Amino acid sequence: MTPALSADRLDRFARHIVLPEVGGAGQARIMGAHVVLVGVGGIGAPALQYLAGAGVGRLTLIDDDVVEPSNLQRQTIFTLADVGQSKAEAAASWVDRFDPALAVEARRLRIRRDNAAALVSGADVVLDGSDNFATRLAVSDACVAAAVPLTSAALGRFQGQVANFAGHRPGEACYRCFVGDAFDADDCDTCAAQGVLGAMVGMVGTFGAMAVLRVLLEGVASLGDPQWGQLHVLDGLRPGLRTMRIAHDPACPACGHGSETDG
Ligand SMILES: [Zn+2]
Repeated sequence: MTPALSADRLDRFARHIVLPEVGGAGQARIMGAHVVLVGVGGIGAPALQYLAGAGVGRLTLIDDDVVEPSNLQRQTIFTLADVGQSKAEAAASWVDRFDPALAVEARRLRIRRDNAAALVSGADVVLDGSDNFATRLAVSDACVAAAVPLTSAALGRFQGQVANFAGHRPGEACYRCFVGDAFDADDCDTCAAQGVLGAMVGMVGTFGAMAVLRVLLEGVASLGDPQWGQLHVLDGLRPGLRTMRIAHDPACPACGHGSETDG
């Protein structure tokens, strides 16, 4: 059924392959995919665990931070031995230990407006788990320009927000359509000031991993409904989930042009 998968890979991913919503074709697609993670912190680290677990064949990990003792409360791939090390490099080492068959690249840098295009180019999906609007908007604009789907996952206290964006497709919203243009200069990190519960950010990260898999499986398996432009708002306190539709903004500086199907 899936001649591309060796016996040991078939065994490793057997629980995916027997799922009708994924199947052998879906698993092969996941294994052939390239996912770029912007940030391997609170959201990126748990997302990485499940994306690597799913067998995503190529992973690029972008983060300019180093592991700090206060990260260990929620960034579960890191241990005391990683403190002081580059997060990107420590996360890549984790992937190597977890599944040496995966190709992983650590990029120890901060993604910015001037380097984002090169970093997202060629990816099948970008998962943005960064913690500030300036980075998110730079990543989103680069994704729209490069026609790369974007999974955005963010957390504020006990509210998580996860959405898939395809701003490069006519009529679909991008992340900038959602938040507007007022936050390009916002570059502050908020976790230290606001506090964050480890299990809560873990839920948002794994929700983000689910959203990435939905994108990867589009047109291949029935789980592959990316739900473009639908913002899932996770309330960790109640708990509960609301989903709302983000409208494409025809005047959006990033995706508003060339969208001839706007209604
Ligand atoms: Zn837009």
